[in-house]
Amino acid sequence: MPQTDLIPASFMAGAQRMARVLSGLDRVLISGHVNPDGDAAGSLAAAGLILRSLGKEFVLYSSTGLPQYLNFFPLPGAIHTSLERLPFQPQSALLLDCGEPHRLGRELAGRLPALASVNIDHHLGGNGMGSLANWVEPAAAATAQLMAYVALAAGLPLKEGLADAVALGVITDTGGFCHGSTSADVLFLCAALVADGCDLTGLRQHLENNWSPGRMRLWGRLMERARLTRGGSVAFCRVLLEDLAQCQACKEDLEGFVEQLRRLRGVRVAALLREEGPQLCKFSLRSYGNTDVRGTAALLGGGGHFNAAGGTLRLTPDQAEKALLAAVERQLNEAEAAAPLPSLPGCGQDLVPSSDPGADYL
Ligand code: 5GP
Ligand code: MN
Repeated sequence: MPQTDLIPASFMAGAQRMARVLSGLDRVLISGHVNPDGDAAGSLAAAGLILRSLGKEFVLYSSTGLPQYLNFFPLPGAIHTSLERLPFQPQSALLLDCGEPHRLGRELAGRLPALASVNIDHHLGGNGMGSLANWVEPAAAATAQLMAYVALAAGLPLKEGLADAVALGVITDTGGFCHGSTSADVLFLCAALVADGCDLTGLRQHLENNWSPGRMRLWGRLMERARLTRGGSVAFCRVLLEDLAQCQACKEDLEGFVEQLRRLRGVRVAALLREEGPQLCKFSLRSYGNTDVRGTAALLGGGGHFNAAGGTLRLTPDQAEKALLAAVERQLNEAEAAAPLPSLPGCGQDLVPSSDPGADYL
């Protein structure tokens, strides 16, 4: 079977267009969003490997660098954390897995108007920020999935490093093939990767079984603190800087915690609030099915996907908690008024009565 058969018909024109656009670039700065996750890192790696095969010069850039848990993953070059002292003056920027300029980091966002940019992404909202070309497919499970199709359209086989890069992104953004985005196309693509020798199980082993003691302590503390509100339909937890210090954990140790909150029986929306600095908090929202958290995040100036969204609040943790829970409640109330949701098994059970009428503590 020719590998181009792996490209779904709905993505074919975009993949071919991007393959053409990339072959016209040189001296390319490749960047994903700040605090890259596996999809941003996998997309970066795939883009570097594609450009290398096309004989182009490129540098990988991330102002925050890669999180430690992704250090095991080989990239096709060093990650530059500053635009000073690059090996060459970039002529163009390839922006990946990033819905908005500010998520590129301040330094690159400021330089963007001076660069010819190409944007490949799967976030909802906006038409993309590429000045030269955009390919935004919210129906794709991962930006790395789109990079696979670009590679195939450019005639490059998905082998070795390129296959691993695609797999890293897809595993990350489908939550290990569990989220609703795990389409037949995704499984078809990954089946081809495995058939060609890609070690999906080994990748997952690297990603999942590498906890530090600090992370274990932090999760224990936060699981105790988790709280249900709105009759059990919202799970909430907040993390202060002092929690990280006391547990000897770091910010990246929170990766995946909000998904744990969503595991609580009856929960429709999981909300995690993280103190980042004075008057600065970051929030993460998760839902499943037809509960939209991107809309909730947008109410607070954030964004993301229908079932996974986030944003930043320039507020104290107390103020941010109030604003976040109010937005979640508002969105859920409006959604339920428009179309009553079927009750979930166990919803509202297991709650210990609380003296605070607004909050039911676990
Ligand atoms: P996380 O909760 O893992 O940080 O992010 C979940 C999703 O929300 C990601 O897809 C990410 O792109 C999006 N997201 C997180 N923070 C922000 C933000 O500050 N602004 C926007 N627009 N999207 C965000
Ligand atoms: Mn992604």
